[in-house]
Amino acid sequence: MSVIGIDFGNESCYIAVAKAGGIETIANDYSLRGTPSCVAFSPKNRILGVAAKNQMVTNMKNTVFGFKRLLGRKFSDPYVQKELKHFPFKVEQRQDDGIGIRVNYLGEDNVFSPEQITAMLLTKLKESATIALQTPINDCVISVPSYFTNAERNALLDAANIAGLNVLRLMNETTATALAYGIYKQDLPAPEEKPKNVVFVDFGHSSLQVSACAFNKGKLRVLATSTDAQCGGRDIDMALADYFCQDFISRLKLDARKNQRAFLRLLQEVEKLKKQMSANSTRLPINIECFMEERDVSSEMQRSQMEQICAETFTRIERTMRAVLHNSKLRPEDIHSVEIVGGSTRIPAVKNLIEQVFNKHASTTLNQDEAVSRGCALQCAMLSPAVRVREFSVTDVQPYAVRLAWDATKGEDGDMEVFSAFHAAPFSKMLTFYRKEPFSVSAYYSDQVPYPDTFIGQWHIRDVQPTAEGESQKVKLKVRVNIHGIITVASASLVEKKQDAAQNENIEMENSNENSQGQDAAMDTNGASQDQQQNGPENQEENADDKKDKSKDKTKKVLVKTIELPIDAQTHGLAKHDLNSYVEQEGKMQAQDRQEKERADARNALEEYVYELRGKLSEGEALHDFIAEDNRNRLVNQLDALEQWLYDEGEDQHRQVYSDKLAELRTEGEPIKQRRLEYELRPGALDDFSRAI
Ligand code: ATP
Ligand code: MG
Repeated sequence: MSVIGIDFGNESCYIAVAKAGGIETIANDYSLRGTPSCVAFSPKNRILGVAAKNQMVTNMKNTVFGFKRLLGRKFSDPYVQKELKHFPFKVEQRQDDGIGIRVNYLGEDNVFSPEQITAMLLTKLKESATIALQTPINDCVISVPSYFTNAERNALLDAANIAGLNVLRLMNETTATALAYGIYKQDLPAPEEKPKNVVFVDFGHSSLQVSACAFNKGKLRVLATSTDAQCGGRDIDMALADYFCQDFISRLKLDARKNQRAFLRLLQEVEKLKKQMSANSTRLPINIECFMEERDVSSEMQRSQMEQICAETFTRIERTMRAVLHNSKLRPEDIHSVEIVGGSTRIPAVKNLIEQVFNKHASTTLNQDEAVSRGCALQCAMLSPAVRVREFSVTDVQPYAVRLAWDATKGEDGDMEVFSAFHAAPFSKMLTFYRKEPFSVSAYYSDQVPYPDTFIGQWHIRDVQPTAEGESQKVKLKVRVNIHGIITVASASLVEKKQDAAQNENIEMENSNENSQGQDAAMDTNGASQDQQQNGPENQEENADDKKDKSKDKTKKVLVKTIELPIDAQTHGLAKHDLNSYVEQEGKMQAQDRQEKERADARNALEEYVYELRGKLSEGEALHDFIAEDNRNRLVNQLDALEQWLYDEGEDQHRQVYSDKLAELRTEGEPIKQRRLEYELRPGALDDFSRAI
């Protein structure tokens, strides 16, 4: 069993595997390390990854990209509406305001959710890893932007579920990068020494993420993050495309915005130009043949011009980088180095901004494209028993303040901040309520989240009744930001307590919770809460880092019985039946792809045999002399006819038709090959053969 890390990028994905010898990046079916985040549909199958991107311009309406930004969002979300403007494929509003992506697949209209499309891409990545590693893949760690909210994180988990992947952790992209950086560093300060602070800047295709991390030997702690979800390499592409559009209108009277195909090609060309400009500051040409109205276009640009055109993007980058200083309370002189990753940090202007803001050269210790996936693979290995790697403790943050609100029973309603912005994560807090009946709590993001709806979830705690004396019961809620960065009420328990001096030997400590698993369990500590009546909930913190003796000091010697209470959760993520039906649908589509592949393979095998045999039968070639002339002419005619058939009605036949024809052909071809072989093994065989015919 292998453990893998997946960088699910907006433009491309990378997969890394943790092995005993270290971390390796896995190449896909095109021997490329990056797999485009692209999913396409045809009358016969799905086309995933590199192949999908390659056919984008000719199959625009059925080639889906940019879906990472649709995960967990509603159709009416202004952010989604903005994205839709760039899509050549159809996106529609579902009854529940969900997003539907309408494509033609198997000759019919089909509507898929962003979770399903993401699952298709994950399926492809899983397959690449399975083929490369020759082992089944199940456990993985997948990266997410640190700004992803509950809704987006749940959507990605659902997608992974549909793809049959078991996600041990959704890991923030910049944290994965920090882990990939820290684990091999030999010179980190001892645990009690002042940490080494490193800033990571990841400027990718559609977003910018910055984080400040403190490193000591064997551990890293994220101090703060700052992000701009609307600022990436594609914004530069878009600004350049707009510029050239204007240029072509004024000089050539060609409006590329009126022609989706032309605009898509323009975007592809300006991206190439942008990359060239990173290495070259002189004037560079852009030429597109047969652009539109059967005309070619050409123009040129130099780096300084690009920097002017994209000034807004650079201002945003600077603002976001300054924000990390503010959020982490670090001064530039407190920072040891600034490490850059992500394709767009190759732009010289971005490196210059880093120097301006942090007063340091941008450092490229890490592989810019692969660091995120490598960090995820490392984390996966640490969480899985399958592979041993060096231990390295990772304490992340969750970027938004979270509030919990509870219902109004007897004037107790209210709300409180459970997690502040940049609070350590994963993390659990125990809250104590006094209730006589079932009750509900809701969680909200209280900050400016990049999401129109701040609602996180509502949890209804059932089976709460008054005590025999008619008093309130003590109910403890465990509110948790879990290993995926998702906020939940992880458990609710009724605490029945008797203070009984006679039974003092029979001491039990209050146990926060028994039903967490895996990593979660490692975060759980023995906590004890105080036995005071108060209106609001009591709040008690628990953190893995100071797991040790915390509970001892606070624990009272009391006899306690804890009863788990059932919780009805209403939060983001697919309903069970939708998830099941998506899993089933995905299975059918995979079967269809497999079938189509087998069909195509069978056709190719026949085609190959036809060419090979005909080639070898021609004058001077290997098999020419091993068949009588009449028979050879007949066979060659037969091969010509088969070739013709393959391009006519034989283009689209069942697998069996091809394999039957191949079998038939082999009964003719193989004996000839056999005669040649015998001849080679036994010189003189040819003479016998000549006499025989
Ligand atoms: P995201 O992190 O936003 O989800 P991603 O991880 O797929 O997306 P990356 O692969 O890090 O993004 O970066 C892709 C972006 O980097 C593209 O916009 C691409 O044009 C840009 N890029 C790649 N190489 C260069 C270069 N040499 N100069 C400028 N930009 C580049
Ligand atoms: Mg990225």
